[in-house]
Amino acid sequence: MTRIKLTKKDTVHGNLILVNSQFPLARLFDLKKMVSVTGGTPDIRMEETAANLLLDLLECTHCRDEITVVSGFRTQEEQESIWKDTLKKKGLVFTRKFVAVPGCSEHETGLAVDLAEKNKPVDLVCPSFPYNGIFQTFRNAAPRYGFVERYPAGKEDITGIGAEPWHFRYVGYPHSIIMENRHMVLEEYVLFLKEHTDFGNPYIYRTSGADIEISYIPVADDYPMILAVPDDASYMISGTNEGGIILSIWGEGRKGYEEDLRGD
Ligand SMILES: [Zn+2]
Repeated sequence: MTRIKLTKKDTVHGNLILVNSQFPLARLFDLKKMVSVTGGTPDIRMEETAANLLLDLLECTHCRDEITVVSGFRTQEEQESIWKDTLKKKGLVFTRKFVAVPGCSEHETGLAVDLAEKNKPVDLVCPSFPYNGIFQTFRNAAPRYGFVERYPAGKEDITGIGAEPWHFRYVGYPHSIIMENRHMVLEEYVLFLKEHTDFGNPYIYRTSGADIEISYIPVADDYPMILAVPDDASYMISGTNEGGIILSIWGEGRKGYEEDLRGD
């Protein structure tokens, strides 16, 4: 068994962290760890895995000549200046609808990207990214590369953000596929796993290869937790930024379990 030690700090890292007005960022992300997705000016950066998969996705859907990257990672200062600038130009109602409060924007993690139609004047706050043609081809393929359209119409009450057809978020495979199939936004997905899974009772995502077993695990404030997973299993761990972690284990019958350390 491989033993993984987790503490509260681990709940604020990873592809599945929720970042919204209810769960602001718990830490600042470092620009130096981000990699370029534009390779030039403007130098737009993202978290490394998200950046690589976005470039693959654009390449494989033959979208590079028609889709442009408008915004990726932002520092808190940059988010602050977008907030203030939009407030000045468009007023509070518009700004609240389309711009996250500094400290509550996914762009501050490097996991989010805004896209637009290339070769057209770009509105930086609300870029055009239609539901047809090559844009829809991109949108349909996105979950296979770990991306989801993060703020769809009809979910505004849950996300707290107006519909943003241009904003995509990297959450990682297979979570992106499950969210797409079940029509869930990230807030709903985390809650779904929290309510329906536990150690020994994972959500099972079946593929033609290995099954993937996904569990939500709450992490207590005051003591570390040890997860034990089989040596030959691949696994991924992500915090949720709301107090838990999500464990994904590849392989049939690969259930992880928790070792209780409270007596140690
Ligand atoms: Zn955005």
